Amino acid sequence: MESADAEIEALCSIWDGVKVEKSLEDENKKRCVKHKIKSLEDEMTSASVIIEMTVPEGYPSVSPLVKLSNPRGIGEPEFQKLQREIDRIVEENSDEMPIICEIFQHCSDYLTENQHVNMDCSICLLCLSTSPIHVTQCDHFMHSTCFCRYLDTCSADFQKEIREAQPHMKERVQTNILCPVCREQLTDDNTIHNYKSNIQEMAKLTKQNQKTLRNKKRRASTTTEDVQRTMKRWHEEQRRLQKIFEKQKKKGGIIDVEEDKKRREFYIETNREGDEAD
Ligand SMILES: [Zn+2]
Ligand SMILES: [Zn+2]
Repeated sequence: MESADAEIEALCSIWDGVKVEKSLEDENKKRCVKHKIKSLEDEMTSASVIIEMTVPEGYPSVSPLVKLSNPRGIGEPEFQKLQREIDRIVEENSDEMPIICEIFQHCSDYLTENQHVNMDCSICLLCLSTSPIHVTQCDHFMHSTCFCRYLDTCSADFQKEIREAQPHMKERVQTNILCPVCREQLTDDNTIHNYKSNIQEMAKLTKQNQKTLRNKKRRASTTTEDVQRTMKRWHEEQRRLQKIFEKQKKKGGIIDVEEDKKRREFYIETNREGDEAD
């Protein structure tokens, strides 16, 4: 389990906010890792997917279980393709190398490459890629114009209801705006009340976002190279250590403290590199 812990530690240094749970029972020393992977951090229209990974006791000889859910900002066919790709990575890991970080990176790259592709507007069901996009606080994607029209309809309904209500009931008419997809109450003032006057501003922002996206895509590929380089070094180190461990096993299972220390230093170094990349 030590190598799994070290890899999860490295994972947490690369990805902010990864939730790690350790099972407490001694017989069942598995780890559960959960994270919402986004195509671009801090970007409202980021595509995202929730990844849950169960790392079993015998990992990496025993493959981890990977579950993807809540796809946002990518089309259903793209999400299914991502699931197949991840299954393939897990199945093809025949040399039993650590693959947790690789899977995270693959999801992130895939989301960046495929965000908003083949995605339909939740309201009009037409393709999203053509015009400015609005994303609700519950991560539902729709055309800005469709969302505006929806707000108009809501507003007309509220006014009608208030008009028709008995005088003492007028104040009690509910005027909450609900998400047109999941009916969650939308509370973002900026989104709701100023939305109509801000529509042009929003269109401008969307254009800017698309520009940043292009730049970030370029940047994302260099980050990927960094991670791949680190992973490659790590795999080499793992192979080297494996040989040492096998030798030690033959000698009677004595653990070489110096080697163990070196290994720990390697991981700390990996973490530092992750920090610099930010
Ligand atoms: Zn639409
Ligand atoms: Zn919603």
